[in-house]
Amino acid sequence: MPIIVQKYGGTSVADTERIKNVARRLVAARGEGYQVVAVISAMGDTTDELLAMAHDISAEPPERELDMLLSTGERVSVALLAMAIHELGQTAISLSGNQAGIQTNTVHTKARITGVETRRLIEELDSGKIVLVAGFQGVSPEEDVTTLGRGGSDTTAVALAAALEAQQCEIYTDVDGVYTADPRIVADARRIAAVSYGEMLEMAATGAEVLMLRSVEYAQKYGVPLHVRSSFTDQPGTWVREEDENMEKAVVSAVTHTDDESKLTLLRVPDRPGVAATVFGALAGENVNVDMIIQNVSEQGTTDISFTVNQPELPAAQKALDALSDELGVAYIIGEQMGKVSIVGAGMKSYPGVAAKMFKTLADAGINIEMISTSSIKVSCVIERAQVEDAVRALHTAFALG
Ligand code: ASP
Ligand code: MG
Repeated sequence: MPIIVQKYGGTSVADTERIKNVARRLVAARGEGYQVVAVISAMGDTTDELLAMAHDISAEPPERELDMLLSTGERVSVALLAMAIHELGQTAISLSGNQAGIQTNTVHTKARITGVETRRLIEELDSGKIVLVAGFQGVSPEEDVTTLGRGGSDTTAVALAAALEAQQCEIYTDVDGVYTADPRIVADARRIAAVSYGEMLEMAATGAEVLMLRSVEYAQKYGVPLHVRSSFTDQPGTWVREEDENMEKAVVSAVTHTDDESKLTLLRVPDRPGVAATVFGALAGENVNVDMIIQNVSEQGTTDISFTVNQPELPAAQKALDALSDELGVAYIIGEQMGKVSIVGAGMKSYPGVAAKMFKTLADAGINIEMISTSSIKVSCVIERAQVEDAVRALHTAFALG
């Protein structure tokens, strides 16, 4: 019997009625002749609520304890769902990440999956049960509970689909697929039928929230095709898979954005070998993810370096830089309220003038570009946060995505 992995996000299990709806869908999939594995997120805003409680108690909660706390949200969902399936007369079993054999490293709150021990999963499937796995969590070599970072249930689903060689991996969410832009901002945004892994990676990295970035990396690495779709309808959604001839190779497939960037500029950094390594080494030491980096021309033996981080990581970045300032004698300035707008498309590789058109569109809308970065299938501009929505709408229209 072929195996299907389905993942349901928090909104799809937000209350007990919706849990019953998911139970019916899983029983239906079983009835179609699949062995069914379902990965479930925490109900509704549970993860946010748990985090808020932790931060009421401590400004910097120990990360091991955060993982103990956050992993409970997903366990609530799978246990209730198992009960709902039993009510429908089918057998199901709920498993924690640990019980499901999901092994990770020890980077608490941002752990990476290192392997999946499928023995228990296969036993339970072979005994005819629907297997429900608590998303977003695993177990470290020290046998502690770990979590995979926000949105991590997507990665759990992909990892299980790869390890079980599932025929399909369906990601059920509250939107019916991947859109040409955020539909909350752009009224005529369209659902995209299929995108390549490469495009989806760029989109997830530049702000598309439907899929966790790491889940797409994992899917690409193991060649797991993903079907992103709504749990409230039976409509097809968006396929994320290997690029092929049938995919419409749009020059620009989507406009994405983020509105939580901060920009830091180090002024008059000594221009000698090893300085960038020292600066970014210190940031890495504080686990800060640096996004865009620009180093300017050197003048009189010094240079300016600008880079962006997610705003929540700004305090950690400042801590790293402050610790360095004695050593390097550098000052820095902060632009807190920044955002980023990006265009992504596999067709832009072979099409000149795309970046120029983006810059012209932003200029015509009176939007100043502070930083630019590109890859072969993406152009990103850092701009003021207050102008992000206007920028998204202008670009969506300019590239005729509606
Ligand atoms: N519950 C976790 C979160 O809210 C994981 C997930 O939903 O995928 O980030
Ligand atoms: Mg999610």
